[in-house]
Amino acid sequence: MSAKIEFRSDMTVKLGRSLAHDLDVTTTARVSTLGPEVDEQVASFEDNLKGNVGLINYLMRERHGSPFEHTRFTFYVEAPIFVTRQMLKHRAGTSINEESGRYREMLPSFYMPSLVRPLVQTGKVGAYQFEAGDEGQHLTVELMFERACHAAWSSYEAMLARGICKEVARMVLPVSTYSTLYLTCNARSLMHFLSLRTTNEGARFPSHPQYEIELVAQKMEAHFAELMPVTYEAFVKHGRVAP
Ligand SMILES: Cc1cc2nc3c(=O)[nH]c(=O)nc-3n(C[C@H](O)[C@H](O)[C@H](O)COP(=O)(O)OP(=O)(O)OC[C@H]3O[C@@H](n4cnc5c(N)ncnc54)[C@H](O)[C@@H]3O)c2cc1C
Repeated sequence: MSAKIEFRSDMTVKLGRSLAHDLDVTTTARVSTLGPEVDEQVASFEDNLKGNVGLINYLMRERHGSPFEHTRFTFYVEAPIFVTRQMLKHRAGTSINEESGRYREMLPSFYMPSLVRPLVQTGKVGAYQFEAGDEGQHLTVELMFERACHAAWSSYEAMLARGICKEVARMVLPVSTYSTLYLTCNARSLMHFLSLRTTNEGARFPSHPQYEIELVAQKMEAHFAELMPVTYEAFVKHGRVAP
């Protein structure tokens, strides 16, 4: 019965069905001044690159945020439970559906910090820094993670084999167990997520997210930059603040 245990250090982020374009922002914003004429003029917005760039930068700078909500990104994510529970904290404009440990057997897939993951915490509350671990610390992490995950997985399997339901057996699994979810958000809520879950020197309000959720956020950011380049550039230019 014992399945082979897998350790991974990566985060999967794939862009699913999405409707997100810079023109979604400029078109919906222009109804403000054009009223019913907006519908007649909609085709002309596509060619008005300079106007669109100017309008998006204006909206970003003045924090007129609602036009950015007329967009949709759906991400498929594979990440450990300690990351997915951080993602679940984002409420506004964000919908999440996650794999159920009650209805399906979990997979023996566990997070293992890679050799580049900082291990040592210094500083004080509110001003922590994280530094590289030495070889001995990395070996300790590897050994302890392997020991704990193997023990937890064999207990999980033993309970299932004794007919104990999945929702009880899963209680022994660690937060390093991988989970899967779909997260759907709009450009405004995505920018808010990125502002909190990435570290960036250009940020007007610097954030200090956990290393692992930042790996997820960086991959989301790459999709955002590709789908909505003008909005993305304006977000960066104006200090990575969600409008
Ligand atoms: C570095 C870091 C450390 C963290 N540490 C902890 C921790 O120790 N413990 C912990 O529990 N969480 C922690 N969090 C999570 C944090 O408290 C937020 O829950 C999370 O970042 C989501 O942010 P948000 O509420 O702004 O986002 P969303 O829930 O998406 O909300 C977006 C915005 O909508 C508005 N809004 C949403 N809901 C309400 C509401 N009910 N009332 C009024 N306005 C609302 C606010 O303006 C909010 O900024 C941490 C987050 C970060 C980035």
